[in-house]
Amino acid sequence: MIFDEFSIKTLIRPVVDFPSPGVIFRDITPLLQSPKALRMVADSLVQRYVESDFSHIGALDARGFIIGSILAYELNRPLILFRKQGKLPADVLTESYRTEYGEAFLEVHADSLCEGDSVLLIDDLIATGGTFIAAAQLVRRMGAQVYEAAAVIDLPELGGSCKLQDMGIPTFTLTAFG
Ligand code: AMP
Repeated sequence: MIFDEFSIKTLIRPVVDFPSPGVIFRDITPLLQSPKALRMVADSLVQRYVESDFSHIGALDARGFIIGSILAYELNRPLILFRKQGKLPADVLTESYRTEYGEAFLEVHADSLCEGDSVLLIDDLIATGGTFIAAAQLVRRMGAQVYEAAAVIDLPELGGSCKLQDMGIPTFTLTAFG
């Protein structure tokens, strides 16, 4: 299936002033409700990474779980969950970060990666980059490295993708809103 960026963009709904005034929330639920669009997104990412040699997929809470699990299944890689604070049951590592909306904490099970592992990080969207950066710090604290940070949407005006590249983390997104 050929990737049609225009039809993907039309299925990402802008919700003004959510969750706080001044934010335009990019809602991917219409995209998830279109089997054709979800398949197009998943197939594009599978095609990009099918020959890649990273060891793990790291999916970011919560919408990253959806795309991350499709990729883990299709690419036959172990799936690691980076979750908001207080959700993971065993021993965790924690990183604080700032988002468009305020301060938050990201956690991962402390035994989920080993030295030398290489992780493809997946989320729905890059805004300030804070969430991906926190996930990358957690990956590095376990002696592993980030292969790439991939998302469906980039919001380049918020500077996250640039910040990630400055930290030596390659990024990939399927579309962007200016
Ligand atoms: P950031 O850490 O600032 O790059 O924010 C990215 C994370 O917050 C992702 O998990 C997104 O799901 C969520 N997010 C931030 N800003 C938005 C937005 N404008 N629309 C939808 N999701 C957003």
